[in-house]
Amino acid sequence: MCAQATQRVEARAPAAEAKSYVEQYYDALRDGRFLAHKCRKCGRYTFPPTTCCEHCGSWDFEAAYLSGRGMLLYASHGIAPPPHPRFAGIAPYVYGQIMLDEGVAVQAIVRGVEATPQALRAIFERGPLPVNACVMSMTDLPVLAFELA
Ligand SMILES: [Zn+2]
Repeated sequence: MCAQATQRVEARAPAAEAKSYVEQYYDALRDGRFLAHKCRKCGRYTFPPTTCCEHCGSWDFEAAYLSGRGMLLYASHGIAPPPHPRFAGIAPYVYGQIMLDEGVAVQAIVRGVEATPQALRAIFERGPLPVNACVMSMTDLPVLAFELA
């Protein structure tokens, strides 16, 4: 019998106030903060936060809040119906790929840009544009979005 098998393992129920990373992320988002995990091993961010670093797999991380500042790399819009009923009221909408100042790539809704070929072409021709994160208050959950700075 190995030594570890003889050790008594005390099972502990999670504290009543313990929240999942998903719940912590949405709580922060409701407050206008962008919760991530910063890896203590490689120093990079995982956003939204998950149970390990998405870059190196380490479980050694700390909570960190991102600035919400970044660059819109491209923008587009969908012609299909919204993927969830919560978005029906804002469709059609623009979404884009944003590179945050902290080096995190995010795909999110971009507010303030018309979902027309002309408006999207104008965004494309202006090149990468600075954006700031914002929070859309939906009926069920807050949703991360971005606006042109
Ligand atoms: Zn890492």
